[in-house]
Amino acid sequence: MKKHNFSAGPCILPAEVMQKASEAVLELDGIGLSLIEISHRSKEFVDIMEKARSLALELLGLEGKGYQALFLQGGASMQFLMTAFNLLDKKAGYVNTGTWSQKAIKEARLFGEIIEVASSQEDNFKYIPKGYEIPADLDYLHLTSNNTIYGTQFKEFPKTDVPLVCDMSSDIFSRQLDFSQFDLIYAGAQKNMGPAGATLVVVKEDILGKLTRKIPSMMDYSVHVAKESMFNTPPVFAVYVSMLTMQWLKDLGGIAAIEEINERKANLIYSEIELNPVFSGIAAKEDRSTMNATFNITDDELKDVFDDMCKEAGISGINGHRSVGGYRASMYNALPMESVGVLVDIMSELEKKG
Ligand code: PMP
Repeated sequence: MKKHNFSAGPCILPAEVMQKASEAVLELDGIGLSLIEISHRSKEFVDIMEKARSLALELLGLEGKGYQALFLQGGASMQFLMTAFNLLDKKAGYVNTGTWSQKAIKEARLFGEIIEVASSQEDNFKYIPKGYEIPADLDYLHLTSNNTIYGTQFKEFPKTDVPLVCDMSSDIFSRQLDFSQFDLIYAGAQKNMGPAGATLVVVKEDILGKLTRKIPSMMDYSVHVAKESMFNTPPVFAVYVSMLTMQWLKDLGGIAAIEEINERKANLIYSEIELNPVFSGIAAKEDRSTMNATFNITDDELKDVFDDMCKEAGISGINGHRSVGGYRASMYNALPMESVGVLVDIMSELEKKG
């Protein structure tokens, strides 16, 4: 039996995408060769890369708006330094909303002055800071749209003339936003897009090429743009599966359609957390993530019972991150409503036992 996969990432992907991806490993579209044994310069793969790049821009509503989509390697962690390498001249601002923001700050400090314009660290990142000043002389402001570990999510983004850089690793393609407010978006594939190994970077071309710093080719966005994301051998399998997942999303009705489903899933679990005295939410209500719901059990004695019930029902991956504890139910795009239903049923059953 396939489990209900609430893993925070790598995580569940659509069943039909998995089916097609596994077929392509044996033979890609009837060409007599496997996806992973053909040249990345073959027409078949170049077409896959082009489709992946154009689907990314199309889904985000950024086609024809001066943006380029790239599929790079090194995970979102590589973007922590690549963004600074390419964009940080003197000073950049970061909103510190958790572990991933802090890691981004640490890398960027190697390239210039970093100021934390706001932080929610004093409350273990349970909320998204608001109402802070953004100095006008920043090279860019870096945000983490969804904080995978704490279950918080920006609902509104700061209005500023400073270029915005956003780590969307754990909520890309999950909700409608005006994506043109960002100058650079990056996201590791392994949540809403595909397997680990590819990182989507969507960059506004006119922010590039402004620094005098010498940038090694592999670190230079302009090089990857000029080479159409094929400067070196790309992670062909991860790009292919990302392309299939984006096509799946497009066929479903795009981000507007998945947003509605994601909201229904999130409402279902959060209303249970609110109404059921056995559970308490961790993140501040107004900042709760639609992707990762974090919660505690109020009565420690019920923990083992709950864990056993989850195991029995085939629920996988709901333990909280070690820095937060409790539970975390990740509800990425491909997680069916039914899985959330099974979890919520167990939660309400536990209340009766408590
Ligand atoms: N940013 C966020 C928001 C994440 O959730 C993660 C991984 N969970 C990362 C960055 C790091 O990504 P990677 O492992 O691809 O470097």
